[in-house]
Amino acid sequence: MPGKILVLAEHRAGKLKSISWEVIGFGQKLAEQLQQELKVVLIGKAIECLADEVSRKCGQKVLTIISDRCEAYTPEAHCQILSQVAQQESPFLFLMGHTYQAVDFAPKLATMLGRGFIPNCVDYQIEAGRLQFVRQVFNGKINLQVGLKGEPPYFVSLQQGAFNAYEVQSRQSPRVVNLTVPLPEEMLKRKVLEIVQAAQGKVDLSQAEIIVAGGRGLASKEKFQIILDLAHTLGAAVGASRPVTDGGWLPKEHQIGSSGQTVTPKLYIACGISGAIQHLVGMMNSSCIVAINKDPNAPIFSVADYGIVGDVFKVVPVLIELAKEIRK
Ligand SMILES: Cc1cc2nc3c(=O)[nH]c(=O)nc-3n(C[C@H](O)[C@H](O)[C@H](O)COP(=O)(O)OP(=O)(O)OC[C@H]3O[C@@H](n4cnc5c(N)ncnc54)[C@H](O)[C@@H]3O)c2cc1C
Repeated sequence: MPGKILVLAEHRAGKLKSISWEVIGFGQKLAEQLQQELKVVLIGKAIECLADEVSRKCGQKVLTIISDRCEAYTPEAHCQILSQVAQQESPFLFLMGHTYQAVDFAPKLATMLGRGFIPNCVDYQIEAGRLQFVRQVFNGKINLQVGLKGEPPYFVSLQQGAFNAYEVQSRQSPRVVNLTVPLPEEMLKRKVLEIVQAAQGKVDLSQAEIIVAGGRGLASKEKFQIILDLAHTLGAAVGASRPVTDGGWLPKEHQIGSSGQTVTPKLYIACGISGAIQHLVGMMNSSCIVAINKDPNAPIFSVADYGIVGDVFKVVPVLIELAKEIRK
């Protein structure tokens, strides 16, 4: 397979978004398997320090496109810049996170270049030397294998949480190269006047290292309190399955799954959650999963590293006491 792999890294407030570390980690693994070179692409204004930091941290070559006109994201500037980067670099793959930005510009960019775009991938396979990506359809019920057809580059976006950011490895050949890409004023059809921060939900579960999540098995809002107690004792964030947020036991921002947040904590404790596919897609890439359920056949046990078959109202208080003992 010819060419190299480019990763578009997104950033905000001088920091790389967590999904971009996941994409870099995946890109490194794939580049090694396909014996290709990996380069990270950063677009923005005054991003020199960030580019240095990213390059040092992952040990990869970083290509920067620095312009006053890139202070705020616009789809025209991204398409204009990335189409020229694709032509200059001739990559085999162009990887990115499946973010609002990618959904906004990537189909347009792929169409401009007459290339394909495979969105929201959760896995990949290499069979007989042929690379295929896996994406979920019908609300996560069916996995679709998508092959690459036509001329490269192939544009691919990855679902948040599908690949682990902890896999990023330093290759110890950091370097930052600034690319000159013309960005004529007339190409830019819109001007960003102001960026208004959305009202912050109190919970960003995607950054949590430990999550204690509860489901319908907790029976009521009042009884759900033991999940909050366990989370408090462990210094963990609180997650929930959909019936919990639908029932108003917790705000919607705590929901994990296909219509909630995707999380990859180091430890996920699922209490009274059956393990419906819509829940699993949001948490199954956690590093260590502990499931507590009174039904030994509950599907959650199929993704669990440790399973406790038992009543949450008996098991959780014991865990709280144990955690308190350990913290003393
Ligand atoms: C379009 C769509 C999107 C969806 N999106 C999401 C989503 O984002 N997130 C999500 O979570 N769901 C989502 N769902 C809902 C999903 O299909 C399941 O209905 C839901 O995940 C089930 O939640 P649960 O496991 O808490 O409840 P249940 O499936 O009712 O499971 C409760 C579990 O608790 C166990 N239990 C009961 N009592 C106890 C006890 N005392 N001790 C121990 N265990 C006990 C039971 O054995 C059972 O396994 C979606 C559904 C649709 C159709």
